[in-house]
Amino acid sequence: MTHAAWRRRAIAALRSEPAPATPLRLGVARFSDAVVHLKDEAAHPSGNLKHRLVRDLLFHALVNDELHEGAILVEATGGAAALAVGHFASLLGLGFTIVMPARTHPAQIAAIEALGGRCELVDPPLAIYATAARIAAEGNGFHLDMFNRAEVVTDWRTANIASELLAQCPAAPTWVVCGAGTGITAATLARHFRYANAPTRVAVADPEHSAYFPGWASGDPGYATGMPSRIPGIGRPRIEPAFRIALVDRVVPVPDAASIAAMRHLAKRTGTCYGPATGTCLWAARELATRTGATGSIVIVAGEGGERYQDTYYSPTWLEDKGIDIGPWCKALDTPSTGPDSWPSA
Ligand SMILES: *Cc1c(COP(=O)(O)O)cnc(C)c1O
Repeated sequence: MTHAAWRRRAIAALRSEPAPATPLRLGVARFSDAVVHLKDEAAHPSGNLKHRLVRDLLFHALVNDELHEGAILVEATGGAAALAVGHFASLLGLGFTIVMPARTHPAQIAAIEALGGRCELVDPPLAIYATAARIAAEGNGFHLDMFNRAEVVTDWRTANIASELLAQCPAAPTWVVCGAGTGITAATLARHFRYANAPTRVAVADPEHSAYFPGWASGDPGYATGMPSRIPGIGRPRIEPAFRIALVDRVVPVPDAASIAAMRHLAKRTGTCYGPATGTCLWAARELATRTGATGSIVIVAGEGGERYQDTYYSPTWLEDKGIDIGPWCKALDTPSTGPDSWPSA
């Protein structure tokens, strides 16, 4: 097949997968005078919000003639992005290799292999990025490089998470709360709300050890903690290039125990298990409502489901092993407006 013929088929295959808006679940929680809605990104075919980014990375590569028949998709990630890469590799008939930290949970490795992918295990964890670039350069690999390319491939005007959300909300929400991994979700929300002249503000819910809260609070885009986050998908040891400090109205630091308590609280209320990062967003929404007096509706972004975490974040024995006590935070969630003070004194 000529390259042009293959490219046409590949673009048609990507476009043939209809991308319906992910559901907005209304009224999943209520704190003080605010009601919380949930944008359910677990509803994507690959089960998480990286579905949007990986699709856009591949569209961009195809229209720029950077991706060829027989290529191997390569990405460095220990997380949800790997499932999206696997989904699209299969749609395009390509192989894929995921470069991940050696201590990645065996269930995650098994999930990637079940999709037909190869796992390359690397230590130390921060070596995954250079290793992915090297592997891609050696063979007929295509390095997706999501952290560096997220901004250039993402359309903030149309057909994105923010445009969907405004169309779905009964009235423009006062806040949208998301986590930040690459930072592209937060930046796209903020850009689109400006573009659409919506009054909605953007808050990033940030876990322990992440550079986003201290970097935002100090205004220093070079801020780095060098420490890995314990909440999968969100929180980074440095400010990533797609995260724009000036576009985010607030970054709310959330203790990990509060994230996990909120994740379980949400599961009890909705009957659906979401991942720990969704708990981080729910706790931050509570902070906005109870400490800054946010009213109206607050939308939280649920980045993935919780199926993968039944033996870890949802397991009381796992939490005990890790020395994580969620008791006080659970109590706080059951008794509105009280509980441990996690609001920064700065
Ligand atoms: C990546 C990720 C996020 C954050 O999205 P970015 O757009 O990369 O900032 C949130 N939740 C989960 C579960 C993720 O995997």
